[in-house]
Amino acid sequence: MIQRSAAGIERWIRPLGAGLSVDTGHPESRFVLDALRASDKVVVTHGHADHARAGHHHVIATPETLAIMEARYGSGFAQKRTALAYHEPMEMGDCTIRLVPAGHVLGSAQVVIDHAGRRVVVSGDYKRKADPTCAPFEPVPCDVFVTEATFALPVFSHPDPMGEIEKLLHSLDVFPGRCHVVGAYSLGKAQRLIALLRQAGYNKTIYLHGAQQKLAALYEDLGVPLGELAPATAGEKGRPRDDLAGEIVIAPPSALADRWSRRLPDPLIIMASGWMQIRQRAKQSGVEMPLILSDHADWADLLRTIEEVAPLEVWVTHGRESALIRALGLKGVRARALSLVGYEDDAE
Ligand SMILES: [Zn+2]
Ligand SMILES: [Zn+2]
Repeated sequence: MIQRSAAGIERWIRPLGAGLSVDTGHPESRFVLDALRASDKVVVTHGHADHARAGHHHVIATPETLAIMEARYGSGFAQKRTALAYHEPMEMGDCTIRLVPAGHVLGSAQVVIDHAGRRVVVSGDYKRKADPTCAPFEPVPCDVFVTEATFALPVFSHPDPMGEIEKLLHSLDVFPGRCHVVGAYSLGKAQRLIALLRQAGYNKTIYLHGAQQKLAALYEDLGVPLGELAPATAGEKGRPRDDLAGEIVIAPPSALADRWSRRLPDPLIIMASGWMQIRQRAKQSGVEMPLILSDHADWADLLRTIEEVAPLEVWVTHGRESALIRALGLKGVRARALSLVGYEDDAE
């Protein structure tokens, strides 16, 4: 029996300063994944700012990710762009790449790279829990699986998202006079929160902070229905919005602490984030009601995913890599840290 190993793969895909870099020697198959610095040819996994940067020459991504990048950076974010639909193969010299859903945010993709009979899957950021705003994660068996490790500690166990939504709806019943202000990251989390509320039967208008209206409109344009939305902008001459008592207002986490939220009627400060499992974090940021809603895989889902894709080797990009590497070692799976810096998921 031939013992397969991942040896040799790192000759054509390896971490460089600008990101994970592919170079097989063929002039057409030289590209960087989620490049942090301006680069010539870049495959972008999803639209979050730490993965999708402006200023590359040629960007290859799903049509949704390209639309999100354009909405955030303007139409000149790259000189050349290639929209690659999920599962559609693209030949790049002696490599073939395919984008496969990652279940993280709208348009998010894993990059499947085939070269010389070997397959590497770069998952970007991903999750396995329900999200009505994007296609679910698809496990692709491979030789090397490149994974994030944002919540890679056994303590991280994300609850059922619908249970968290029920908490919010229950609070509206109990405190009908209070404005429920939810801090949610503007790309992905805010739209997922709205879609989950709709799924739970909440049909009233949901109010949005100005910074979140553009992306919500884009999601709707891209076929994700979000129901009745309205701006939570100030009334005439900055008058307080008394009409928002008992309503849901969604805002970027940074807006929760500033003057903006103080003109809302008796605001009840809520935060939707995977980090809300850490009680101390919620307390420090003055959050009255933490909702544990994460767009990343928790500990059990990381391990389950790696079992499903059954790689010869796991490479860990960023996060809490040492616990994951140790746990995989105990299961006989070879794993190593790429220690890529610059990918931060604190805002998740
Ligand atoms: Zn992300
Ligand atoms: Zn990330």
